[in-house]
Amino acid sequence: MIEAHDLTRRYGDFTAVSGISFSVQEGEILGMLGPNGAGKTTTIRMITGFLPPTSGQVTVDGKDLFESPREARRQLGYLPENVSLYPEMRVDEYLAYRARLEGLSRGEARSAIPLAVERCLLGDVRHQIIGTLSKGFRQRVGLATAILHNPRVLVLDEPTVGLDPKQIISIRELIRELGRQHTLLLSTHILPEVELLCDRVVIIDKGHIVAEGTPQSLRERWTGNPALRVILKDAPAGAAEALAALPGVLRVKDGGPDGSWTLECEPGSDPREEVFRTAASAGWVLLELARQRGATLEDIFVRLTTADTADTAAASEGAHPPGPPAATPADATEEVVS
Ligand code: ATP
Repeated sequence: MIEAHDLTRRYGDFTAVSGISFSVQEGEILGMLGPNGAGKTTTIRMITGFLPPTSGQVTVDGKDLFESPREARRQLGYLPENVSLYPEMRVDEYLAYRARLEGLSRGEARSAIPLAVERCLLGDVRHQIIGTLSKGFRQRVGLATAILHNPRVLVLDEPTVGLDPKQIISIRELIRELGRQHTLLLSTHILPEVELLCDRVVIIDKGHIVAEGTPQSLRERWTGNPALRVILKDAPAGAAEALAALPGVLRVKDGGPDGSWTLECEPGSDPREEVFRTAASAGWVLLELARQRGATLEDIFVRLTTADTADTAAASEGAHPPGPPAATPADATEEVVS
């Protein structure tokens, strides 16, 4: 639905977005994730036709945004980071005004406005002055405005920023609902939002794409092989070698001052039972046996957006990443068997 090709935006000597290419497939929810200043808003404003790129191309539903802006933008609904509404207007007056701006006929507006009000759950406040609405409801008005002309794609820039936790939950529900009928691109720096809402994610840092894939595929790619953490009382002589020889175990690494060992295992294997039986038959006291948790999206995000861009540029889908994140205190054990 959206193809962005080699988009670059410079502000004077500063390059805010540098040669970004990505696509949003019909029906998917794509999350654009990045720390503050990464270039998300700049990218989104270029994609929605509000900011000309220094170079590059955008097509929406096959229409070039710069050669056929009217046709391309007809398919786009946009919720900017800071929605500017007219606070003195009532909700329904404002939607009628925006419908006229979108070029909807009176007849089209008569059906589009109640539908947008219903989909964004604005029925109870439709006659209320916008300035008296809570931020969550103002965001709903922004979303209703974005869907008035029934675009195929919705582009939402940080849709939950500044909302309280209850409002965040209800706006996320609304976004999920809108995602059933529209292709969706949303930018955020909130990781759970991506996990909860998005089919695929593009991670941006310093104007570059540093990783791309489904949350699941990113976790798999950055987690490396599965691992077990084992502690045997008094670290018996020969135990590390015996554990390394078990089926499914690739190698045994010294885990540090707590006397633990990390057993790196073959993908798909789980030799916990063999470890337990080996320890029991040798008379070793097994103090701990646990699977190590893989990398979370947060681990990956922190690693990618604090490393050198050059180091991470190859981390997108299909490319080989530089390696799994180093173990951190967050690498908590998942379950203890014994
Ligand atoms: P945030 O999450 O904080 O909104 P972002 O990822 O959306 O960040 P952008 O707003 O796209 O980031 O900004 C990217 C970089 O471009 C930042 O360093 C920002 O200061 C810079 N920038 C944005 N707009 C301008 C401008 N008009 N002139 C100069 N620099 C700008």
